[in-house]
Amino acid sequence: MVESRYIWLNGDIVPVEGAKISVLSPTAQFGANVFEGIRCYWNDTQKQLLAFRLDAHYDRLERSVKMFRMNCKYSREDWRKGFEEVIKANNYQEDIAVRQTIFIDGDAGSWFSTGPVGMFIAPIPKKRKSTPLSEGISCCVSSWERISERCLSPKVKVGANYINSRLAQLEATANGYDSAIFLGRDGSVSEGPGSCFFMIRDSTLITPPLSASILESITRATLLSLARNHLNVRVEERPVDRTELYICDEAFLCGSAVELTPIFSIDDYTVGNRNPGSLTTALHRAYLSAAEGKIAEFAHWTTPVACSSVY
Ligand code: PMP
Repeated sequence: MVESRYIWLNGDIVPVEGAKISVLSPTAQFGANVFEGIRCYWNDTQKQLLAFRLDAHYDRLERSVKMFRMNCKYSREDWRKGFEEVIKANNYQEDIAVRQTIFIDGDAGSWFSTGPVGMFIAPIPKKRKSTPLSEGISCCVSSWERISERCLSPKVKVGANYINSRLAQLEATANGYDSAIFLGRDGSVSEGPGSCFFMIRDSTLITPPLSASILESITRATLLSLARNHLNVRVEERPVDRTELYICDEAFLCGSAVELTPIFSIDDYTVGNRNPGSLTTALHRAYLSAAEGKIAEFAHWTTPVACSSVY
């Protein structure tokens, strides 16, 4: 166990207390940053930490950097090296979550500065959700509309997008719900504040399409692939009507952080019988098995990360 937590910041490994940036930086003031939340799972048989879908996360980070015209001096190879270095420095041998953020730094910039660009990489221990699943959450439909292509890009992962998420989550919490589900501009179902939405109707797994003002979620893509190619489940990516939230058989939110979180009620309508349904449970099991590198055909989704420390 390490005594301090280490962060990679602009090329240095520093204790968390020393990982500081200017209050005047455009990232601090305007949310001018793009980032990824990457999970690494401990495989106890191999005694090996495995980063899950690292390439897919870096593909999306590249798209975010491009979209927000950031003058990023760090290469993809630097991203990967820093990631490995900081996990080594912390000597984690357990499940962790890693935030990797590229931001507009400096103390003389404005909301439209494209540099100077900084990067930090911050790992932290984070346990996986239990198997089998037992807990579920309550959701409400948010009165806030999801950001759309008309004002911001929901497809990429930029810090400022989370202000829209924040409004929805705080409203849900204030009204006694665990989380929220956004509708998009056209009134169809979009996503959660920090997750994508799936439901099951008549044994078909259904999720809104990528054009429904959603993040290009890696967990969503992973689950679609597992459903189609591993579990042989019927899958539909199609617009979802609000009414369907209230009459579906099973529902869950998904994301790198929340993995698969069953929903037990939406706007106080009970979903299924307030237990995780059989398809949700099967997908959850397959997801964690894939993340631990235990499904041979999906072994390429995992990247071994060295753990021994030289710090
Ligand atoms: N939508 C939003 C708004 C999110 O913040 C997240 C979490 N990154 C997701 C969906 C799920 O994305 P991913 O599966 O890539 O973690």
